[in-house]
This record gives sequence, C-alpha cells and structure tokens, in this order.
Amino acid sequence: MLELRDIIAGYDRRTPVLRGVSLTLAPGEAVGLLGPSGCGKSTLARVAALLHRPDAGTVVLDGTPARGWRHRAPRAQRTAFGVLFQQPRLSADPRLRLADLIAEPLRATGRPAEVASRLDELAPLVGLGGDLLTRRPHEVSDGQLQRACLARALVLRPRWLICDEMTAMLDASTTAALVAVVETYRRETGAGVLAVGHDRTLLHRWCDRTVHWTDLAPAPANPGAA
Ligand code: ADP
Repeated sequence: MLELRDIIAGYDRRTPVLRGVSLTLAPGEAVGLLGPSGCGKSTLARVAALLHRPDAGTVVLDGTPARGWRHRAPRAQRTAFGVLFQQPRLSADPRLRLADLIAEPLRATGRPAEVASRLDELAPLVGLGGDLLTRRPHEVSDGQLQRACLARALVLRPRWLICDEMTAMLDASTTAALVAVVETYRRETGAGVLAVGHDRTLLHRWCDRTVHWTDLAPAPANPGAA
C-alpha cells in the first residue's frame, strides 16, 4: 500500500498548499487525481514519490513510514517509484542520448550489466525504434522524449508509478500509446498508478477510480457550525 496520511506541505510553512490531505493506493490500483490548475496536485504527486518533504503527516510505503526525501530517501524506497512529469524536457539531461537517459537509473544504482537487456526490452515497448535511441533530446519530438522518459521510469521495475500530467503535451495517438504501456505494465506487475491530470474523460477511462481534489481535503472539524 502507498498511504499518504494527513499531509501538510507546500513552499512556505505559513501558507501550505496541502492542508491535511490523505490518499491510499493499493497495489495494482490506478487512481486518477483531478482538480483545477494550481490546487496542489503536483505537490501531492511529488510528496507521494518522496520528492518533496511534507511539513507534517506521513507517507507509508508498504507498511514502512518514509523517513527521508529525495536523495536522502533509502534506496529501496526511492527506487520503488517511477515518476513521469508533464514536460519531458525539464526532466531530461540534454547531453544524454536517449539510450543513456533510459539507462540512467540502472547506472545510478550500480546495475550497468542490465543496461543492454533492459534497453532491448523497453525500446520496442515504448515505441522507440530506428536510430532514436542514439539521438539527444533536441533531436527528437516531445512525444519521443516522453516515450524515453516512460522507459526510464520503468527501467527499475517500480512498484508505484506517479504520472503527473504525463500526456498533457502529447497528441492523441502518443497519449493512447503511452497509457497502454502503463496499463500493460500495471497488469503484468501489479504496480499501483497515481495519474494526475485535468482530462476527466481520459482519467475515467484509464483509472479504476478517480478522486477529485476536493474529496481529499479533511472534513471540517465542526461541519454544523455556520
Ligand atoms: P497543480 O499541480 O494542481 O497545478 P501545484 O502543486 O503545481 O498545483 O501548485 C500548487 C501551488 O503551489 C500553486 O499555487 C503554485 O504556484 C505553488 N507552487 C508550485 N511549485 C512551487 C515552487 N517550486 N515554489 C513555490 N510555489 C510553488
């Protein structure tokens, strides 16, 4: 289970963006998170993926509370997540060829021996054929780069995938292809998926359940008071 309990988080302690938000994902479950721009969906996604340290509250990963964030998170917890963002160019080192971008997490975790076999498996899965793996980010389209970022997110076989507006920049056919890859991965591995977005139709089609931002806020302490 991935549990977020009573999370308070933001960028300024006096005015938190998340004010006591709770959300639970079961293994194998795809949960869509809908809400207007600026309400805090990305912040929540980053807290869930141990990328943003909350001011209060707990993230519990398969029964173990998270104690570190970003590079201070224990490796076993950090690598349990694959994360995809809206803008692949902001999360891709422009100097790396796509093959090296995809292999980055394997090299960073001391598993270079697996690079060739994982590239052979993942490149066709995400639709990166021909010479695309040898190109650098500026030589490919946003859709092709997002395909590489999806392969990178899957390369360590994460138990949880956090997709933050993963398809917002993409055309319909690339969107369908990438969602299909995530869905196949979820079915085959039992990974849980948190899909943040604003496209209600897509999230309803994709996810087992869709929660709206307003459903996550804590109930008022005294709802009867005017
Ligand atoms: P959403 O994903 O729903 O659009 P975000 O979580 O990105 O919302 O942002 C929630 C609020 O936090 C917004 O008001 C946004 O301006 C603010 N915010 C987001 N990132 C930062 C940051 N790095 N520094 C300061 N404020 C931020």
